[in-house]
Amino acid sequence: MLIRKLLLIVSGWLAACSHGPPAPPYSEIQATLAVLAQDYPAIAQRLEYGKSVDGRNLAVLRIATSPLRKSARSVVILGAIHGDEYMHIVDRLGIWLLSVSGKPWLRGFLARGHRIYIVPIANPDGYENWRNCRFGPRRNNANRVDLNRDFDVISTGEKRLTQPETRGLIELLEREAASVRLVMNYHCCAGALAYPGGHYKFYMPDEDKRRHVEIARELHGILWGDIEIGDWKSVVDYTGLGVAIDYFYQRHHAVSFLYEGVS
Ligand SMILES: [Zn+2]
Repeated sequence: MLIRKLLLIVSGWLAACSHGPPAPPYSEIQATLAVLAQDYPAIAQRLEYGKSVDGRNLAVLRIATSPLRKSARSVVILGAIHGDEYMHIVDRLGIWLLSVSGKPWLRGFLARGHRIYIVPIANPDGYENWRNCRFGPRRNNANRVDLNRDFDVISTGEKRLTQPETRGLIELLEREAASVRLVMNYHCCAGALAYPGGHYKFYMPDEDKRRHVEIARELHGILWGDIEIGDWKSVVDYTGLGVAIDYFYQRHHAVSFLYEGVS
């Protein structure tokens, strides 16, 4: 009986630890951001915004013309805020965007002073625990806090941002006076594209809802796999306060999506 139980635990552990996509060390992903900043000095910068609970450097890749222009309209892209939901997408996005930065659509976007902020791994401690199959927190940060419930809840006036990973990022965006217009927060792997509305005290006017649904339908046409579209609480079937997309929508009126990729 005991052996059977142990086998179940071990097999469960191995399944939880089998990585689909390649998962490079966090330090390697950070080094890539530094190389990109070196290779594209006119438009790419690696900006540090503090240290994680376990002391890892937190950094964002900013793609924008330097020095910054007056327009601060910004796109924010987050990956692995749940450390075990790494998709191997956001850490490649910066590389790809910079490789096509000579194309008119992106050149024009940057010439107008708009900015793109990319955080490949928003929860590095959880990511490293997941990547190395350690017993520490994987979804949460090293303080066992779910970072995607740690954003200020603007509709109730509740202040959160209690963790260095969330507080540092928001302070950086505020320092830069970024006016966030679009957010994409990558998760895995429920197969959904969710817009703000993570709890019942959240209100979104119909016009904004329509806007999100229209864009989501367009994205659905190009995203791989079958995905569900809806507000966050109906997609995951539970409610939650302090979700990043709710925060960005209410703070900046940004079009905000949580993408639950398909593995
Ligand atoms: Zn998640």
